[in-house]
Amino acid sequence: MDRTTALEKDKKHVWHPFTQMQTAKDPLHIVRAEATTLFDSDGRTYIDANSSWWVNVHGHGHPYLAQALNEQFSQLDHVIFAGATHPQAIKLAERISSLLPAKLEKVFFSDDGSTAVEVALKMAFQYWYNKNESKKRVIALDGAYHGDTFGAMSIGQRGTFNKPFEHLFFDVDFIDFPKDDARSQALIQAEQILKSGEVAAIIVEPLVQGSAGMRMYDAAWLDAFVSLARKYHALVIFDEVMTAWGRTGKLFAHNFCEQQPDIICLSKGLTGGILPLGLTVATDEIYNAFLHPETAKALLHGHSFTGSALACAVANASLDLFEQPETWDSIEWIEERHRYFIEALKTHPKVKEIGLCGTILRFEVETGEGNNYFSSIRDRAYDFFLEKGCLIRPLGNILYLNPPYCISEEELDKLHVVLLDFLDSL
Ligand SMILES: *Cc1c(COP(=O)(O)O)cnc(C)c1O
Repeated sequence: MDRTTALEKDKKHVWHPFTQMQTAKDPLHIVRAEATTLFDSDGRTYIDANSSWWVNVHGHGHPYLAQALNEQFSQLDHVIFAGATHPQAIKLAERISSLLPAKLEKVFFSDDGSTAVEVALKMAFQYWYNKNESKKRVIALDGAYHGDTFGAMSIGQRGTFNKPFEHLFFDVDFIDFPKDDARSQALIQAEQILKSGEVAAIIVEPLVQGSAGMRMYDAAWLDAFVSLARKYHALVIFDEVMTAWGRTGKLFAHNFCEQQPDIICLSKGLTGGILPLGLTVATDEIYNAFLHPETAKALLHGHSFTGSALACAVANASLDLFEQPETWDSIEWIEERHRYFIEALKTHPKVKEIGLCGTILRFEVETGEGNNYFSSIRDRAYDFFLEKGCLIRPLGNILYLNPPYCISEEELDKLHVVLLDFLDSL
């Protein structure tokens, strides 16, 4: 189908995410993808510099993942996951728990990042409920993003994105983002709230807050926050939906920490970013609080596609790729290349707050009007990059790169050059 016809039909019937349909420009019409390259129906190519919304880690159309998917399809596509199990889910659960801290042994399957977070919240609230303890508060960080379902929205930054629903959210205590002077202030705020003894759980995106603009903070602060939560018997949830799978330079962000969580949420790159799958992994201690002769004490939660055999097979294949040294060589190389580029970036008058964590490079464009998701810089940068055959997705005036790990030297250098060209155009 040609582009014009396709876009007419799209406009007539498709409602796109995070999009004001009245003012939005025509979307790209992508018909094929290979490694880091997206192809549109006019034959134009784009480097997928944001890994298709932060999910794609090994590149598009990876032959090894394709093989795993095809083989699984011919064997078993999907089966109800209550009262049935299957080899790929068992294998995945065993592998995931062997990769996570020793106490995290129990894997609950769902569909995406938001559901992985919903499940974590339900586990935390019901854990205390089952133990007959009245702990109902949650502490989250200022600027948090944990997904777009109601529970996940409740624990996220309040604002334009969720204003119409605000009256439906449960109460959450937000503490300052731990940057510079706010580091100790945030811990003081946390302790004040924790002291009440009413906190069921704390939740963080460890080390990098994605939607807040790839904002980075240090592992030592997180260790201190987690220690405080432990002192006052609150559960600790790490939302690693974005930070896992090598993004931060290690397999998981919590690999940089000494203190470990009770619950971890995983999704996005879990399947290499090609099929939706969410996991919520909990300690035996949490799991055991749901064991009881009464059904009502169980975690009565599930989704139609829970434990999809196709998604599990691809996730297992993706884990195989993470066992190959080449994957880690690429991750290290991207970080090094970004670090080298930062030297050029640092001296640019329009650049501030540069951050580098593993494969994620971010900085803020000086606008004279502070940070704003609706900054016009966003559209200018997006269009500028598109024109040069690169697809980015700025968060307001914050620009970042988090490409698939198979990106070539030529492609990464091109992204860096286009960034500088864009800054020079301002
Ligand atoms: C993307 C994201 C989510 C939500 O995941 P979806 O798959 O989009 O529902 C949750 N938490 C974090 C940290 C994320 O980056």
